Amino acid sequence: MSATAGQVIKCKAAVAWEAGKPLVIEEVEVAPPQKMEVRIKILYTSLCHTDVYFWEAKAQDSVFPRILGHEASGIVESVGEGVTEVAAGDHVLPVFTGECGECAHCKSTESNMCSLLRINTERGVMIGDQKSRFSINGKPIYHFLGTSTFSEYTVLHVGCVAKINPLAPLDKVCVLSCGISTGLGATLNVAKPFKGSSVAVFGLGAVGLGAAEGARLAGASRVIGVDLNTARFEEAKKFGVTEFVNPKDYSKPVQEVIAEMTDGGVDRSVECTGNINAMISAFECVHDGWGVAVLVGVPHKDAVFKTHPVNFLNERTLKGTFFGNYKPRSDLPSVVEMYMNKVRLQSSIFNLQSSLSVNIWLLLVQELEVEKFITHTVPFAEINKAFELMLKGEGLRCVIRME
Ligand code: NAD
Ligand code: ZN
Ligand code: ZN
Repeated sequence: MSATAGQVIKCKAAVAWEAGKPLVIEEVEVAPPQKMEVRIKILYTSLCHTDVYFWEAKAQDSVFPRILGHEASGIVESVGEGVTEVAAGDHVLPVFTGECGECAHCKSTESNMCSLLRINTERGVMIGDQKSRFSINGKPIYHFLGTSTFSEYTVLHVGCVAKINPLAPLDKVCVLSCGISTGLGATLNVAKPFKGSSVAVFGLGAVGLGAAEGARLAGASRVIGVDLNTARFEEAKKFGVTEFVNPKDYSKPVQEVIAEMTDGGVDRSVECTGNINAMISAFECVHDGWGVAVLVGVPHKDAVFKTHPVNFLNERTLKGTFFGNYKPRSDLPSVVEMYMNKVRLQSSIFNLQSSLSVNIWLLLVQELEVEKFITHTVPFAEINKAFELMLKGEGLRCVIRME
């Protein structure tokens, strides 16, 4: 048991006091975990666009003061009453949507929308007692997505904590706790392209390139990347994106451009922008008869999806997903293993240096590559730089080191 178990911990956290204002590193008090809760020492966290939306609070309703952050990795410091699934010292990834293990969704093989712990962007308190575990001079600071990882210590419901292989490097796998797994799962678990499919990916940020990575692993023959930011195209080549379309370069709708490129439409499309027009285009660019489109981006709170019903009659399918349909506790450890396979194979190549290594290398490209998503790293004191980079559309994931 850790020396701090059962006690209030004073530590640093980046507090969003007001919408759109730089975060301020403050000393906060973190209460001990209560029944079915876990307190985690966060070691690395990264910025996902969802944090930025709820910090800007332009297109979303948000509560302040709040501790944002949901993509992270850490070590369990202590656990509350009734927690048996994890213990102090375990390496874990926090997840913005949970898995209670008991509800109809958790028991279904098709859903990850846990009735108790599914994503809730408005709640700023713990489910157990409707109180916050964070405070400054007795004044509550609210939680975000049940994770609040922009803090050296945070408290989560145990159902939002995935225990992972302790050998996995936490500075890398932190990015698997939201964006990359979301994109990867949106393709592999929801769009389900077959070998030789054509796949369009709208939005070439980390989530979209996670979706492209899924298309590569599924053996897609064409991956068409769509983005308004041409600077994204060069980076996307590393992720197996074979063709690029910038909607700004055409006078006609991008769905028509894609239909012409693919003789009637792509087999699958995955939307990872949050923009309503891109969502509609992503649906309308799939082939009639069999095309499937998957929406992943978080839309503006007032957005309305408009398309002609005949698009459905013509046998196009529209789906959406949170966290790529992965059940956080049951499935995320195996996504980490997909990356660890790559790490293991890489070390065997290093040791062998023989023609066998060439064969292993061929196997290697089938494994999940996480490093290429991490384009920047900053110390916790410079967390606002991560926001600046995302607002400028520079880089993919910026990892924030807590120590
Ligand atoms: P990002 O900002 O890094 O990438 C988004 C990309 O979309 C950018 O390159 C941008 O230029 C592009 N884009 C914006 N509007 C576009 C348009 N109309 N057409 C084409 N491209 C356009 O963001 P990210 O962190 O990769 O997140 C992507 C989206 O996924 C966000 O909306 C985020 O909130 C959402 N998200 C959803 C889930 C989920 O579970 N459903 C999980 C994580 C993130
Ligand atoms: Zn996210
Ligand atoms: Zn459940």
